[in-house]
Amino acid sequence: MDMTDEVRDVVIAGSGMAGLTAAIYAARADLKPLVLEGDEPGGQLTLTTDVENYPGFSEGVDAFELVEETKEQAARFGAEYEAASVVDADLSERPFELELSTDETLRTRAFIVATGASARWVGAENEEELMGHGLSTCATCDGAFHRGDEVLVIGGGDSAMEEALFLTKFAETVHVVHRRDELRASEIMKQRAMDDDDIEFMWNTELLEIYGSQEEGVTGAKLVRNEDGHPKKAHENDGDAEVFDFDCGGVFYAIGHTPNTGFLEGTGVRLDDDGYVETREGRTSKTDVDGVFVGGDVADRHYQQAVTAAGMGCMAAIDAEEWLDEVEAEEKQAQKAD
Ligand code: NAP
Repeated sequence: MDMTDEVRDVVIAGSGMAGLTAAIYAARADLKPLVLEGDEPGGQLTLTTDVENYPGFSEGVDAFELVEETKEQAARFGAEYEAASVVDADLSERPFELELSTDETLRTRAFIVATGASARWVGAENEEELMGHGLSTCATCDGAFHRGDEVLVIGGGDSAMEEALFLTKFAETVHVVHRRDELRASEIMKQRAMDDDDIEFMWNTELLEIYGSQEEGVTGAKLVRNEDGHPKKAHENDGDAEVFDFDCGGVFYAIGHTPNTGFLEGTGVRLDDDGYVETREGRTSKTDVDGVFVGGDVADRHYQQAVTAAGMGCMAAIDAEEWLDEVEAEEKQAQKAD
């Protein structure tokens, strides 16, 4: 393990809109932030194409371009980037020590957590075998492999609608499989999907198994439906549910996200039951550990928008800068007293 003597002012874990916006603010405060780009550089935006709801772009903006421009913007003020993730963190003493996926150990005075949240898996039989072989969590990445296919999208939220709409460019028919008979998605997304002739809905239905192999890809799925809802429970409990096979060439998961906070367990940073970082009372990015700040989806189970992530990243950098100033002032005071 390599450890340099250098102690950074600010290290930012994550390079989605939260991490990159934190980097702009920290760099402009002359803190020379190091951004650890993480396992999914650019964050969740890179899983989409056009962004129509980021302010300032009346015609929308290409997601990749938005990420690259933001990255460049922070670099212009002195932000640095490294292709690594934090695997372990010792936040019990300052400077903090961060162990990276590259085997390097970094030391930093302030730490901004902007590691986002990653796509969740359903838990269907065969999913590990077929992930990346016809099963995907990213329509933007893998949709083009499914020209003329029947495809399933699992989920009933905005992500599922977005994935389904995108997949209509390629697939013969997109079948949205939702476990209830009511969508969670926002009205506008719901309406767009409902109005699209290439999208069909399977209500009260859950995925049990995916058929296929790594060689031939996905060939079909085993599903279970119960008109009264809660299909899996009914299937397990009273056998009233209808279990059926469905031929398809692709399955896309869009059932929400899990926050990337494994490395924070036991560090003193408070996490909720699902692993999202909890901040202190009030509108702040401060965590329970002094000097550790948070921004973006990793601390936000509700909004999860590019613009809210950017705003939270901004807050984290401002809070970190103010905290570093306070600590410096305290240290000077203590030196004077000696
Ligand atoms: P979400 O809103 O939490 O929806 C997840 C969906 O997956 C729900 O319909 C849920 O069913 C279903 N689900 C969860 N676990 C499941 C399981 N094990 N098996 C089957 N189905 C399961 O997540 P999201 O769609 O990723 O959206 C997250 C946030 O990002 C939201 O705030 C959303 O508005 C936002 N977002 C916005 C846009 C946009 O504006 N264009 C695009 C993407 C995301 P239930 O409904 O039964 O719980």
